[in-house]
Amino acid sequence: MNQSYLIKPVMRDFYPTAMYGQGVFIYDKRGKKYLDGSSGAVTSSIGHAVPEIIEVIYEQAKKISFVYRSQFTTEPAEKLAEKLNQLVFGEEDEYFSFFVNSGSEATETALKIAIQYWQEKGNFRKNKVISRWSSYHGITMGALSMSGHIGRRERFVSLLERLPTISSPNCYRCPFNQKYPSCQLMCANELETAIRREGADNIAAFIAEPIVGAAGGVIVPPEGYYQMVREICNDHDILFIADEVMTGIGRTGKMFAMEHWGVKPDIIALGKGMSAGYTPMAATLASGKVMKPILAGSASVMSGHTYSANPQSAAVALAVINYIEKNDLVQKSEVSGNYLMNLLKEVAVKYPIIGDIRGKGLMIGVEFVSNILTKHPFQKELSLTSKLVETARDKGLLIYPATAGIEGGGGDAVIIAPPINITKQEVDLLVNLFEKMVDEIQEDLS
Ligand code: PLP
Repeated sequence: MNQSYLIKPVMRDFYPTAMYGQGVFIYDKRGKKYLDGSSGAVTSSIGHAVPEIIEVIYEQAKKISFVYRSQFTTEPAEKLAEKLNQLVFGEEDEYFSFFVNSGSEATETALKIAIQYWQEKGNFRKNKVISRWSSYHGITMGALSMSGHIGRRERFVSLLERLPTISSPNCYRCPFNQKYPSCQLMCANELETAIRREGADNIAAFIAEPIVGAAGGVIVPPEGYYQMVREICNDHDILFIADEVMTGIGRTGKMFAMEHWGVKPDIIALGKGMSAGYTPMAATLASGKVMKPILAGSASVMSGHTYSANPQSAAVALAVINYIEKNDLVQKSEVSGNYLMNLLKEVAVKYPIIGDIRGKGLMIGVEFVSNILTKHPFQKELSLTSKLVETARDKGLLIYPATAGIEGGGGDAVIIAPPINITKQEVDLLVNLFEKMVDEIQEDLS
């Protein structure tokens, strides 16, 4: 068995060899069955081996799988762009799609479009992006420069752009030691302070994950946060980029997570659930406001990859979105998410190592603490997150590791985000396996 292509084994001893998937389940070479409780890396949002998608893959492959984006456009790419444009907050604005292959490329493209926007308007100084400390926007250097995920940054810090960062809106571990709503959203106001410190003339955009994923174990901001962020951006002439790579396309009970707050971003990055893992596909959507000076100026976005707008991937992403709409999965994500959340909360009361459970729709984070009253995290040396993930896997449940969003890094959290078409019985099984895992870990720790 040659696993030399693995760059970083997360599981210490080995990776099981996946043989096939069916719905929310994955089967390995030894015949072991896993409930995909995290959709991989919050990606396989409609489960595995959906016949309608397989059919589209086959039909598109028979027609054409690749053309170069500077030589041809294709019907799948055109239809996908049209579909995304319809989905973003109705049809009141026009969003332009730039198709790429990964979430990292989508956020890098967002960064470039934001800088280019200001250049086309004659402003060459506005080229910094403010981000939040507990955030992850991707692994490539531009995306990593905007990310606060310590573990993924530390080896490359000297090469990363030094961009301004602010705190995350983390009510469980408020960076300002305040309580909502008497805090008056100090976390949002910090954006204003950062803009004043850096000078609005130097800032192109603010980027945020609507709900922080891997770098915070699912941090949902308090009501009013994004409305205030949007206002601050408007007041200081700064673009707002929403990184919906993890939250987008139905995951949180809305097609786009920003709909929860009714706030329209200028640029949106998509990935993961957009093609639900059936093919690499991601996108950067830029609003009409952003595209206007670009189209009137150089008339092209200075970015792109060989595989950008690949027709095979575009056909699959379109089929995934149609499948989600046809089966009412955005609504189901909300309903199943509420059901799952309630069951997990019932588990949590029995286990003091569970400090917090939070989320929206089927994107749920569980944070583990050594002391439930002080919220003190477990020692880093314990590698508790890895133990949680491994123990769950042994029991046949896949969950996704995260850090807990403690400013400066650290803490233990996992993300539970099964395919959004998971059934009620499968949610029951998920919770049952999760409880068995927590039970064993709590026993080991005592
Ligand atoms: N943005 C967010 C919010 C993510 O969660 C991720 C990946 O986890 C990325 C960007 C990067 O996406 P990719 O791993 O596809 O490059």
